[in-house]
Amino acid sequence: MKNSMSRRQFILAAGALAGSAVLAGCGGSSTSSSSTSTSTDSSSSSASSSDDSYTLVKDGTLTVAAELGFAPFEYMNDQTGDPEGFDVDVINAIADKLGLQCEYLPNQKFDTLVPLIKQGGKADVSIAAITITDTREESVDFSEPYLDSNQAIVALKGSTETEETLNDASKKVVCQSGTTGNDWITENLPNATCVPTDDVTPALTGVSTGSYNAMVVDLPVAKYMLTNSFSDLDIIEEIATGEQYGIAISKDNPNLTKAVNKALEDMKSDGTMDSIETKWFGSTI
Ligand code: GLN
Repeated sequence: MKNSMSRRQFILAAGALAGSAVLAGCGGSSTSSSSTSTSTDSSSSSASSSDDSYTLVKDGTLTVAAELGFAPFEYMNDQTGDPEGFDVDVINAIADKLGLQCEYLPNQKFDTLVPLIKQGGKADVSIAAITITDTREESVDFSEPYLDSNQAIVALKGSTETEETLNDASKKVVCQSGTTGNDWITENLPNATCVPTDDVTPALTGVSTGSYNAMVVDLPVAKYMLTNSFSDLDIIEEIATGEQYGIAISKDNPNLTKAVNKALEDMKSDGTMDSIETKWFGSTI
């Protein structure tokens, strides 16, 4: 935890010095910031070497697209207005290793992230607890997996709902649109009324108030949200989908994927990944 905190503090300080909004959701700025190469890893691959070169939307900056309502992976800090979370720490550590500053685009809808990376020109990467799937791999490349995950069914505490009772047209099961949770409902609860929405928090509120009978969402998010904001809800079933999260990068930028993979490998061996996991999950996963 100490490691990643000091790394983050350094990045924020470096951003302040360079006069650019690091971590802020202020995409669209045309300010070009040079990387703080004096204090970054000397092992980072250089964007200028012809063999390993990759393109960036903005010089010296790793521009990130994400849906910022998926705690503990990415969410807006109400006080600072900056994105925070496990993924935010991971991508900042990667940018640090590449000698780049990290800048987030404003909040995006989850189901637009893969198309946005595929289309190019707006963001270099998307990190948003995105599960690596065959369908998505047709549109974008993914980094090596950086975290394992599963799904959860969330309902009111004391509810008698089960997978079987929910599989009925009278039952509304909410999810975030275009997610693997959405796919799971379609495949496994074909008779239920599936309700895809944009945002997790209002969806869970809808389960609390009885608008929906249940929500299907990534297990770590369910655990975090129930502990921190929804004490009236319960995980009624954990679904072992065996998903893995990856960072989405354009197929036109294979050297960026290579550089990100090298940074992830280094972070696994130098303890950075362990310290970020411990910071957000209390232990390594
Ligand atoms: N892991 C899930 C998916 O990739 C949900 C991600 C999310 O909602 N941010 O579909």
